[in-house]
Amino acid sequence: MPASLSTMAEQSSPCSAGIMPSSTEAVKIHHLVKAPENTPGSIRKRESWDADELATVYTTPECLPDGTICQATTVIFRTRGCVWWWNSGCTFCGYFNDVRDDVTYDNLMAQWQSAKDQTNDFEGSEVIKVYTSGTFFEDRENPPEWQEAILRETNERGLRLIVEARAEMCTPEKMSWVANLHPGCVVAIGLEAMDDEVLKFHCNKGFSTKQWRKAVETLRANELEVKTYLLFKPPFMSEGDSLKHCIEWIREVGPLSDEVSVNPMNIQRGTIVERLFRHREYRPPWLWSLVEMIRQVDSVPGRLIVHPTAAGRIRGAHNCGKCDKHVAAAIERYSVSGDLQEFAGLTCECENIWATEIELDGSIPSPFGVGLDRRMPAEESLMSP
Ligand code: SF4
Ligand SMILES: [Zn+2]
Repeated sequence: MPASLSTMAEQSSPCSAGIMPSSTEAVKIHHLVKAPENTPGSIRKRESWDADELATVYTTPECLPDGTICQATTVIFRTRGCVWWWNSGCTFCGYFNDVRDDVTYDNLMAQWQSAKDQTNDFEGSEVIKVYTSGTFFEDRENPPEWQEAILRETNERGLRLIVEARAEMCTPEKMSWVANLHPGCVVAIGLEAMDDEVLKFHCNKGFSTKQWRKAVETLRANELEVKTYLLFKPPFMSEGDSLKHCIEWIREVGPLSDEVSVNPMNIQRGTIVERLFRHREYRPPWLWSLVEMIRQVDSVPGRLIVHPTAAGRIRGAHNCGKCDKHVAAAIERYSVSGDLQEFAGLTCECENIWATEIELDGSIPSPFGVGLDRRMPAEESLMSP
């Protein structure tokens, strides 16, 4: 053992594991390893952004609860980020790339103004999605006066508001405060999986299905709408298992939610999932899996939305490269129309490869799945990365 390590080990009582410091308080490995968001380069990049500038604003078609098609504006703010990320963080979440530690009320109001300037005051939009890379109504993340200003203004203007939150933060006090300022506002919770084992070991979500159920009860008690996000293909799960489980989860959470939105995994910078992906131990889902999932759950009550971010790209849900554009467009259309006819006549040679992968994932005990890179010759993708 090198001298420096042996000295450390001698000093480190009661645990003599070498890496542990001498304090009697337990220290997790998490505290000793520099997370990617805290490397000097990452901090420098974050701090270089203008805090008055939004992450992004864009409009998309949207379907209202009564089936009317309208337009939605999504505003993604640069905030202080998610409290759960400050402590730990979900395995797939790269939102920390968009945050800075010193964002103030004035910065957030300037960002709101910038969203209005860029969209001609939300012209043509009936729905506003206010996303903060964390929980909108968490006071440690966002100043309460700013939360109040957004809730009030959107309510006064008759805009349907969608905000995001973690389950344990939907407390009765806070939800009644939100409902008072914007009755009927939609709260979207990233549940990811209706399975505590997956939440803990695959997602590192930091809350349980029990806490999600409690949050839903609280939202209902305050007549707020419930939107539930599920994650298609968490890490350490094969394509076949992901398809099977996600169908079960939609069937379970659908009746408890007003809307279910399935997010197919996309690889975000600096995440655990990115590390697996680089080691060829993880591939984003097939677009065919999403089509099959939609076909199988079409009869579940409540609206189902599937938005594959970076669809067709190697870091998003993708197929062989030839059919991606058509399959992704059909999925997007289904999310607005809810009509299975969107998939009529859709086919490609790669569908057989996908079907074989799903079948083998169900019969060969391979936890990461049997799938290979879909855009590389098979012999090359079998070589070590
Ligand atoms: S709770 Fe949401 S914002 Fe926070 S780390 Fe997880 S996915 Fe990211
Ligand atoms: Zn194809």
